[in-house]
Amino acid sequence: MRKNIVAGNWKMNKNFQEAESLMKELADYKKNHKTQCEVYIAPPSLYLTTAKTIFANNEVEVYSQDVSEHASGAYTGEISTDMLQSVGVNGSLVAHSERRQYHGETDISAGKKVKALLDAGLTPVYCNGETLDQRKAGKHLDIVKEQTETALFGLSAEEIQKVVIAYEPVWAIGTGETATPEQAQEIHAHIRNLIAEKYGKAVADEISILYGGSVKPENAKEIFSQPDIDGGLIGGAALKIEDFSKIIEAFN
Ligand code: PEP
Repeated sequence: MRKNIVAGNWKMNKNFQEAESLMKELADYKKNHKTQCEVYIAPPSLYLTTAKTIFANNEVEVYSQDVSEHASGAYTGEISTDMLQSVGVNGSLVAHSERRQYHGETDISAGKKVKALLDAGLTPVYCNGETLDQRKAGKHLDIVKEQTETALFGLSAEEIQKVVIAYEPVWAIGTGETATPEQAQEIHAHIRNLIAEKYGKAVADEISILYGGSVKPENAKEIFSQPDIDGGLIGGAALKIEDFSKIIEAFN
């Protein structure tokens, strides 16, 4: 179901005490404020069980930053969907650009991970987006089309409606550069149109598409006010409660 979502990707930041303290600050914030969007966090996997204890009422959904496409076995360092589900984690990011860049993630493996999550009853937050060179070459629409089709278009209409998509132009992630609201809206509408062409408008209208790339308290409201942008995947600004809460309040 289409929802407004503000999701924090903590990446490889914070030791346990710092992470626990930020989770408690977020829990306090949620207790004392009525928010107009869903709030997700994706802390390092070592802290997922702590997060599920602190957010025991699911007031903040908890996501892994990655998941294995395999069910179990000899895959050192990996985490399976079954493991996530067994500790109550809500889902996982899939194919974040840093996983693509440093760990060889492809849209083929991303598609397998998305399917594995859905089969386990978990929510995939599938990330895509073009590099700066691809945008400069005017290929951004084609790249995002190919990514979306490869990773998601093997799903049924019922399945794809359960996927959250995060469009994150690689050139805007962690760089301080932000796509203009118009640039972001263009791609979001493009992704929704692709889904509408394949599955029908009713299905496309059910999908939350988030924008990621240097979202901050100062630009969140303008970005989120675009018609096809349903929230944000937030990196750096998710690491301080003052910033993250202001981004959440962009929906108020
Ligand atoms: C991200 O990690 O998904 C991200 C968008 O990071 P940042 O907000 O720091 O650009």
